[in-house]
Amino acid sequence: MKYIAITGGVISGIGKGITAASIGASLQLHGLKVEVLKIDPYLNVDAGTMNPNQHGEVFVTDDGYEADLDLGHYERFLNRNMTRFNNITAGQIYSSVIQKERAGEYLGATVQMIPHVSNEIKSRLSKLKGDVVLIEIGGTVGDIESEIFLESVREFSMDVGRENFLFVHVTYIPYLKVTNEFKTKPTQNSLQLLRRVGILPDIIVLRSEEKLPDSTIQKVALFGGVKSDSVFGLEDVSNIYSIPQKIHDEKMDTMIMNKLKINPSKNFEWIYPEPIKQPKIAMVGKYLATDDAYKSVLESVFLCGYKKPELIDAEDLEGLTQSEIKARLQNYSGMIIPGGFGKRGIEGMINAIRYARENDVPLLGLCLGMQLMTVEYARNVAGLNGANSTEFDSQTPYPVVDIMEDQKKQMKMGGTMRLGSTEIKIRKWSKLYDIYSKEIVKERHRHRYEINIYDFRNIFKITESDPSDRLAISAMSAFAEGIELSGKKFCVGVQFHPEYTSKIGTPHPIFLNFLKSCEI
Ligand code: GLN
Repeated sequence: MKYIAITGGVISGIGKGITAASIGASLQLHGLKVEVLKIDPYLNVDAGTMNPNQHGEVFVTDDGYEADLDLGHYERFLNRNMTRFNNITAGQIYSSVIQKERAGEYLGATVQMIPHVSNEIKSRLSKLKGDVVLIEIGGTVGDIESEIFLESVREFSMDVGRENFLFVHVTYIPYLKVTNEFKTKPTQNSLQLLRRVGILPDIIVLRSEEKLPDSTIQKVALFGGVKSDSVFGLEDVSNIYSIPQKIHDEKMDTMIMNKLKINPSKNFEWIYPEPIKQPKIAMVGKYLATDDAYKSVLESVFLCGYKKPELIDAEDLEGLTQSEIKARLQNYSGMIIPGGFGKRGIEGMINAIRYARENDVPLLGLCLGMQLMTVEYARNVAGLNGANSTEFDSQTPYPVVDIMEDQKKQMKMGGTMRLGSTEIKIRKWSKLYDIYSKEIVKERHRHRYEINIYDFRNIFKITESDPSDRLAISAMSAFAEGIELSGKKFCVGVQFHPEYTSKIGTPHPIFLNFLKSCEI
């Protein structure tokens, strides 16, 4: 088995995850079985309690693990589903060490970072199986939290044999406008920090805004202690899905395989989406601090061959009249209301939903989006004034969205939502059935609230014989999984998250269908 550890230098957020996923994809195209592990050095046990504004979206796997969004990149690029075993956090490692100490497993020993914590990390690393195992270490070298992980990976590279191990350092080269030059100093420093923990990189990947001159490549090679053909420039591209091709064209894949003594296959063929379709889609959301907050939704649209939606701040739409909303949104040919938590911005989303419903603008509601479509319908069509979700108004006279029975007992926030993939039954008479063409599907979830079809039976069309001008419940599991309005171009909400399962070549059919309806 061969291993590739990917470390980051200078700053986070430069696309280390995309680079790692692209390296993985290019090796997979050479016929290799690629396994991945994302290490997150933060103390959270998983990403579930993190605010998307700070850390980007929480990605949910089939087995109900709330992961860092990098697992989403891996799923999309490698066309494979990840599980909880593809991610470890410092929180998991430390809590497991402490549990073992309490259970008496280290009886007599002083429990220490080395060897107890490092052994715990190494035992997780040694469980991974594949022709090539990619280990991406989150954060940047020099972070206090990541030090023990770098040390453990270094030790692990000695255990499995350094000849089976490759270190790739992905770092950033800033460009200084005033003097018109690329600066290598931060990278020199990060290479030094790496050396200090005993890691000598085999390959250095330089991220930059523009293509780097050869002189910069050579300078980094000198400081990094590698030949200049082991330093690769990876400037910004408009389409991240082209990167595996670039890696191949620039022979980084060949270099990696040569160093690991793997024979490259000749038939490298990478097919990726190149969006050409124009319809402008509005996404009315509440996490606007980083584009990463709605990563999987944006990528799902892109993977269908359409430009990414434009983000509109839901809070800006609060308190506006419908004609003001129209002025703001009329240039968009479709609208997505994505998932989210908490009261902030929801009245703006409800205003936007009303505009879309009344003007027959194609509308897709995801999780929170579906719940708010139900609230809007209850208020403005069924005449239930003050209808709401109890998440936002515990005193609402019409709790059309309410907390799920088993969630009422939950005392803890972390990992306690309804999570992961479960079976759903699609109603044969629904639009959703036209989209899937099958009755039983599996989709991923992440929620605490559900539509209250029991107390508000008469505003919904639940069976085929109910009046068709009601809000139709198009899919069910233990509760409502889908809603839709008939007679519209597209007016569909789902309790689950189709965005988590879109992959290159197989975008989710709900997105495809929604986007097609935006072109009409
Ligand atoms: N806040 C809602 C719930 O918990 C929606 C969650 C979501 O959009 N993921 O049910």
